[in-house]
Amino acid sequence: MTQEPDHGRRTAAQGSRIDAYIDRYAARATGMVASEIRALFAVASRPEVVSLAGGMPYVTALPLDTVGELVADLVAQRGTVALQYGSGQGDPHLREQICEVMRLEGIDAGPDDVVVTVGSQQALDLITRIFIDPGDVVLAEGPSYVGALGTFAAYQASVVHVPMDDQGLIPESLTETLTALAAAGRRVKFLYTVPTFQNPAGVTLTLERRRQVLEICRRAGVLVVEDNPYGLLGFDGEPMRALRAEDADNVVYLGSFSKTLAPGFRVGWALAPHPIKDKLVLAMESAVLSHSSFTQLAVGRYLETQPWREQIKSFCELYRERRDAQLNALTALMPPGCHWTRPAGGFFVWMTLPEGLDSKALLPRAVAERVAFVPGTGFYADGSGATAMRLSYCYPEPDRIREGVRRLAGVIQQELVM
Ligand code: PMP
Repeated sequence: MTQEPDHGRRTAAQGSRIDAYIDRYAARATGMVASEIRALFAVASRPEVVSLAGGMPYVTALPLDTVGELVADLVAQRGTVALQYGSGQGDPHLREQICEVMRLEGIDAGPDDVVVTVGSQQALDLITRIFIDPGDVVLAEGPSYVGALGTFAAYQASVVHVPMDDQGLIPESLTETLTALAAAGRRVKFLYTVPTFQNPAGVTLTLERRRQVLEICRRAGVLVVEDNPYGLLGFDGEPMRALRAEDADNVVYLGSFSKTLAPGFRVGWALAPHPIKDKLVLAMESAVLSHSSFTQLAVGRYLETQPWREQIKSFCELYRERRDAQLNALTALMPPGCHWTRPAGGFFVWMTLPEGLDSKALLPRAVAERVAFVPGTGFYADGSGATAMRLSYCYPEPDRIREGVRRLAGVIQQELVM
């Protein structure tokens, strides 16, 4: 678990044995290494461990019987469509419904602008596939979503991080980074950003900065990829307007039902200017022919027949209670010198440890005390983040969150006196 990645020399299944196929992989396979989060899953899923590591939505809160019934009705009434191949762009009716969902974030788009994908993770893969040649630069917040970093590595992108503070990406740093890259003759293809309730930092880009970031990118000819799976999971007031709501020509928006409904359906989407959308459809067809008609129609039926806005509201209340449990426990229990973000939505808190502590070194001790987190280094492509960690509050019940924070605070306290 704490081993350094060894770039394909070993596989998980083979344990310590040398990978016999190592000389035959394509160069891009070198970048495909298990994320720190993946390695953590086995440990964190032990029942005695309080996992503040994963980002699993609390699907237990869904009306499972109702979902079962609507799936049965779907097969009875539209089985021959649900069980057939579909179009590469995705079910037209679902694309209309997706536009209705996006209107909540101020986005005005039509079904022909949307491509349905296998979660937003596949949208990330496709967008990277159509834009990135080996060595091209992708800008990403520092820290950034681990799954996106994995995709960028798989396509041999060079990731350059732009710092954030508690108001999100810092526009001045973005300008400085772009200037430095231009001076070095490096080609920047896009800015990848999670502007709302960011994973892993839990911060949200302010309105003023949204305008600045869009303006800077437009002027520099850098596309913005807005990844927004948490946008509707805010704890106070109305949803933020998406970046895409302000700039239809230079923003590709990625959305997902994974957090507002359930990740098991694997339904996400990309909303893109038409030339990019056309390439995405071709890339989609080459990857999987078409998305599963079955799960697309199931999600469509859920949206049609269920009070989905109410369900999202009740998810928000549930996650707000857990966020509060975590923040209150951190305030009560963490030793001086620890700092953390205060998310207004989403799943994650980002905590920075006192000077000199290393979160990766701390992890085995934390696991021995039955609590897990994700070390900060997993969220950077350049090895930064050693003093930070991501703490999730989405899955454990509030009492377990408090207990997890108590255990973690004990481990950090012990480390400080050593
Ligand atoms: N982007 C971000 C920021 C995420 O946190 C996740 C899931 N953890 C994804 C994309 C991928 O989600 P999915 O493929 O389930 O839509």
